[in-house]
Amino acid sequence: MSKNENIIIVGGGLCGSLLALRLGQRGYSVEVFEKRPDLRKTDISAGRSINLAFSDRGIKAMKLVGILDKVMPLCIPMNGRMLHDIEGNTVLAPYSGREYEYINSISRGGLNALLLDEAEALDNVAIYFNHKCSSVDFENGIAHFYNYENKQNFEKEATVIFGTDGAGSAMRKSYYLEKKFLFSFSQNYLTHGYKELSILPTIEGGFKAYKNALHIWARGDFMLIALPNLDGSFTVTLFLSFDSGEYNFNNLTSKERVVKFFETYFKDALSLMPNLADDFFENPTAALGTVKCSPWHYKGNTLLMGDAAHAIVPFYGQGMNASFEDVVEFDQVLDKHEGDWETVFNEYEKSRKKDTDAIADLAIDNFSEMKEHVNSDIFREKRKLEMALEKEFPNDYSSKYSLVTFNENISYHKAMTRGRAQDKAILNMIADKEITTSDGMTKEELRKIFKKVIIETEEIIDEDTIAKTMHH
Ligand SMILES: Cc1cc2nc3c(=O)[nH]c(=O)nc-3n(C[C@H](O)[C@H](O)[C@H](O)COP(=O)(O)OP(=O)(O)OC[C@H]3O[C@@H](n4cnc5c(N)ncnc54)[C@H](O)[C@@H]3O)c2cc1C
Repeated sequence: MSKNENIIIVGGGLCGSLLALRLGQRGYSVEVFEKRPDLRKTDISAGRSINLAFSDRGIKAMKLVGILDKVMPLCIPMNGRMLHDIEGNTVLAPYSGREYEYINSISRGGLNALLLDEAEALDNVAIYFNHKCSSVDFENGIAHFYNYENKQNFEKEATVIFGTDGAGSAMRKSYYLEKKFLFSFSQNYLTHGYKELSILPTIEGGFKAYKNALHIWARGDFMLIALPNLDGSFTVTLFLSFDSGEYNFNNLTSKERVVKFFETYFKDALSLMPNLADDFFENPTAALGTVKCSPWHYKGNTLLMGDAAHAIVPFYGQGMNASFEDVVEFDQVLDKHEGDWETVFNEYEKSRKKDTDAIADLAIDNFSEMKEHVNSDIFREKRKLEMALEKEFPNDYSSKYSLVTFNENISYHKAMTRGRAQDKAILNMIADKEITTSDGMTKEELRKIFKKVIIETEEIIDEDTIAKTMHH
């Protein structure tokens, strides 16, 4: 295998910069072309959300490239969801019954900058900013760019071109528009959009709300969430319909109405947000959607990765983690088939696509779970039981959330199959009063419930497998 092959990566976001680092570490000659200015030098928001939930699949990727020790100082642990009811009462619902399982809040810009630094430190990796890819000639392995600095168009040939240019990928657009192979593509928008707001730090630089949680104000058809930042602030995100319900993005047109909306539904948050009305009208409202497509690659010439291949809605906090996991999975396939790009791309897509489809679907499910169910009694009872099971049987029980978030060696698809069956089993059993939970359950009572849940879960998985086989 020749490492003289040159590689182009289009997009130096979270996935592209990690991929550049990994391929650079493997000895490839890599050039990254990023549309935006260098976020380490220019004060631009890194695009999309300001901070993100970072968890075990992402951590595994950082370990692969050997920079976890540099990433951890950027993290704020979030041990659970801090649920705020309409009166302002709060309760902390842990993410897991195992204390060592938690997610982290991390700055998108901080993490992206670190990945760029690490990639750029390698002699065989070069990163060019202000270079926008306009299209990719995937048959001939040529990428077309526009350089914002000298205002020139130019083209560049490569052995392989990776498209890590995010949800609006130019490379994916070329696949679609060229109509040279059977390219399937779907894009589904939610009727809800989002807007980022903020809770500023106290004058002393402290946190105005509990630091180590992901705060949620779930209100049925809409919700507010807040994640902590290292400077003491919180980034707050409002998820709301564009056009339905009494309050929606289209009719929140005056400062008075925005404040009234928050006074009615998010009173305790409002008291921490004197800057609300300004934030609201200064910050953009953006749409949320799921992109699925196939194939991700054209022969051995080009490959889509990260959001460019599979953009998902943010409700499982997994988009970045999944994009990082792409690089881990790709690296494993490369170990097996290095030297034959077409086989690498084929094998990678074959094993990976079912997992990214699974997390896309789980993320949609979690939207309703977050905005509705966290407030429903049966859901809370299920979570309480699952926390008790995880605590009592730490090696044998994991909720769907734990399987997805904390079990980086279980694929998303397996996590989805098992997690959904478990949920169904528990919810049915609670509804049928086959199991009842109380605060002082004995070990023996819990063990009985645990066994019931496992048996019922296996039955559901078997039934689903049989139904699928018959369907085929
Ligand atoms: C509101 C919101 C909240 C989220 N929260 C979470 C979370 O909590 N946890 C989580 O894991 N994920 C979260 N995500 C998902 C996460 O943001 C994405 O999955 C992740 O950014 C994907 O990385 P990427 O590198 O594939 O794409 P991006 O991060 O979008 O990077 C793409 C890069 O390509 C560049 N680019 C675009 N077009 C071109 C072009 N034509 N030429 C050259 N360069 C180009 C862009 O400037 C950008 O730098 C969230 C997303 C949103 C919208």
